Amino acid sequence: MDNETTFNFHNHTTYSDGHGTYQDIANAASIAQIDAVLVTDHNIRPRGLEKYYTTPGKDILILTGEEIHDRTQNPQNNHLLVMGVEEELTRLSADPQWLLDRIQQLGGLSYLAHPNEDAFKLFGEPEISWKNWEISGFNGLEIWNAMSEFKTVTKGSGLRALLYAYFPHLMAHGAHPLTLKKWDELLLKSSFVLAIGGTDSHAIPYHLGPLKRIIMPYEFHYQTVNNHILTAKPLSGNFQEDRQMLFSALRQGQYFIGYDLPHNTRGFRFTAKGQYDQYQMGSFAENEKNFTLQIRLPRPATCHLIHNGKRVQSWRHQEICTFQATEKGFYRVECTIPFWGKQRGWIYSNPIFLGERKKS
Ligand SMILES: [Zn+2]
Ligand SMILES: [Zn+2]
Repeated sequence: MDNETTFNFHNHTTYSDGHGTYQDIANAASIAQIDAVLVTDHNIRPRGLEKYYTTPGKDILILTGEEIHDRTQNPQNNHLLVMGVEEELTRLSADPQWLLDRIQQLGGLSYLAHPNEDAFKLFGEPEISWKNWEISGFNGLEIWNAMSEFKTVTKGSGLRALLYAYFPHLMAHGAHPLTLKKWDELLLKSSFVLAIGGTDSHAIPYHLGPLKRIIMPYEFHYQTVNNHILTAKPLSGNFQEDRQMLFSALRQGQYFIGYDLPHNTRGFRFTAKGQYDQYQMGSFAENEKNFTLQIRLPRPATCHLIHNGKRVQSWRHQEICTFQATEKGFYRVECTIPFWGKQRGWIYSNPIFLGERKKS
């Protein structure tokens, strides 16, 4: 699993309320030196656009997904990110379980978008969190959504919005604490739920009097919250092959979320070594009684190990951390890093499980 693809999730284009095209996104991704992007426009699943895009820097893999919600609701809660499905599914949005069942039937992946979100009074938007929790069959939660965080930290102030529009590097603090809590609860209930990081980029032009500015341009977003996908082989440049490889790694949880702006998170690894085998993120060590967890950071930082929702060990200024795990359940890692005067969320791994996989 030595190959790493930097994949930016949750992007809007001119097909919905974003302000750039697929080619703009590819150019921005190339400037930011990432490899792949998932576009998820609202309630539309355009065809024939996913492919490798050529840019002056490098070729960028762009996949088309969709962000689906029920437009008849007020406020329009329950945003769902979908990928790997070509069928337009908005017609099922009134019943999230029907929608999730259909996505599973079609072999797609689904993630609850910004499950905890604050209202954005400045733009007159109500809060649009996830409401219907009596559901099953989704693949993950978007634990960190950069645009939602922007709404939270501006607290309805135009001046604060301007501050972050001009100094966006001051904005991000970490994954949403309530969503992390929810994720742990779901994992404890034996659901195989993964975490995903999204930027929810729109490249929105913002006007305040004579001041005009694009809030969080694509190329900025692509240097921030990314998913780092680990695969046995590198991207080949063949669209179908690479799409399939990323898709299967996402389904299995072989990736972590990294906030790449303070320091690129490329090179982070979280594995477990048991008596019989070595386990990657997303794996179940079913035949082991214990295993040694091995964490490698790209540079010394603070690292926390979480077992069944509780912090069991922390390391400060460490690059290599190990832990002898004997208790069953899930283990995941969170790392923080100092940036612009604050300790910020930096890396969130997907879990490794000690014990058998339960039916969910
Ligand atoms: Zn949304
Ligand atoms: Zn969105």
